[in-house]
Amino acid sequence: MEMTSVAGVEVSRIGLGTWAIGGTEWGAVSDEAAIATILSAVERGVNLIDTAPIYGRGRAEELIGKAMQQHGRREAFYIAAKAGLDWNSRGVFANSTPERLRRELEDSLRRLGTNYIDLYQVHWPDTLIPVEEVAGVLAEFVAAGKVRALGVSNFNLPQMEAFRRVTPLASDQPPYNIFEREIDAEILPWCAANNIAVLTYSSLCRSLLGGRVHRGIRFEPGDIRAVDPKFQEPRFSQYMTAVERLTEFARERFGKSLIELAARWVLDRPGVSVALWGAKRPDQLDAISGVMGWKLDADSMAEIDRIVAESVKDPIGPEYLTPLVRTE
Ligand code: NAP
Repeated sequence: MEMTSVAGVEVSRIGLGTWAIGGTEWGAVSDEAAIATILSAVERGVNLIDTAPIYGRGRAEELIGKAMQQHGRREAFYIAAKAGLDWNSRGVFANSTPERLRRELEDSLRRLGTNYIDLYQVHWPDTLIPVEEVAGVLAEFVAAGKVRALGVSNFNLPQMEAFRRVTPLASDQPPYNIFEREIDAEILPWCAANNIAVLTYSSLCRSLLGGRVHRGIRFEPGDIRAVDPKFQEPRFSQYMTAVERLTEFARERFGKSLIELAARWVLDRPGVSVALWGAKRPDQLDAISGVMGWKLDADSMAEIDRIVAESVKDPIGPEYLTPLVRTE
C-alpha cells in the first residue's frame, strides 16, 4: 500500500469511505457485511477510514466502533470523522454553530467508542457563521486532546484561508475523479503549495467509474444515484460512452480494469494525498491491489482527457450534493 502523511501521521493513500455503509442512501447493508468491509480494508493496509454522523444517521460511526473493538488495536485505524451537518424532516443542512459542533463531537466519540478522533473535518461550510468562529471551536477540541488534527471539506479558497488564520489546517476533502475536476484550477495547486493534504471524495464518481454500471441500469428510489444528474438521460448515455471507451483504453494500454484506472488516475494527480473509495462489501476492495505498483504517464493522462471531452458534451458536477442553508 502506498502511504502518505496527514499532519505528520502515516496514512494509506486509499481510504475507506463509509457513506454507503451507513445503509441509507446506497441500499441496505447488514452489520456483518459493514464490519467485515472495515476489517478487510485494514487487513489490506487501508488505515484511513472516512466517516460522518450523517452516514446512516450515526450508524456508520457505530459500525466503525464495533469493527475497532473486534480488531482490538485503536492505533491501527486513522479515523477521519466530520461535523457540521444537521438534519430534520426538511432535509440535510449545514450547521456549524458551537453548540452543534460540541454535541456532535461527544456523540461521535461515544458512537466510535474512542476517546480521540485522528482528523476532524468540517463537512460543509455553514455560510451563516464566520469560518473563524468555527475554527476557534475546533481548535478547543484539539487543545482538549479529543481531536488530533483538523480538516475541512467542500470549502473554497477564501474559506480555507480564513480557517488557517485561526488554527492549523491539515486537510481538505473535495470531490475529484476523472469526470469531476473543478479543483484542478485553484484548490489542488493551493493545497500543494501550503502543505495541506487532499483527501478526494467520490473518487469512483459514485460508482460510475466502478465498472459495474451499464446502460439501462436502474437504481431503487432512495438510492443517491436515482437523483444524481449524471445518471439521468440524456447525460447518462454520454457518460456511458466515456465509461466504455475508458474501459477499453485501460485494458488495451495497461491490462487494467476501469476501477483500477480511475483510482490510479486520482492518485497520480499532483497534490492528491488520499483517494477515498466507498465500499459496502469486502470483495469491492479486491481491486485495490491492482491500483498499486504502476503509474499513468502524461500521454495516457492526455488520452483520458481526450476521451472524456469527445464523449461528454454536456458535463455536470456533483453540486446536487450541496446541503440546505439552515433556517434557525
Ligand atoms: P465512490 O467512492 O465514488 O463510489 C462508491 C461506490 O462505487 C460504491 O458504493 C459501489 O457502488 C461502487 N464500487 C466500489 N467498489 C466497487 C467495485 N470493486 N466494483 C464495482 N463498483 C464498486 O463514492 P462516494 O461514496 O461518493 O465517495 C467515497 C467516500 O467519500 C464516501 O463513502 C464518503 O466517505 C466520502 N464522501 C464525502 C463527501 C463530502 O461531502 N465530504 C461527499 C461524498 C462522499 P455500488 O453501491 O453500486 O456497489
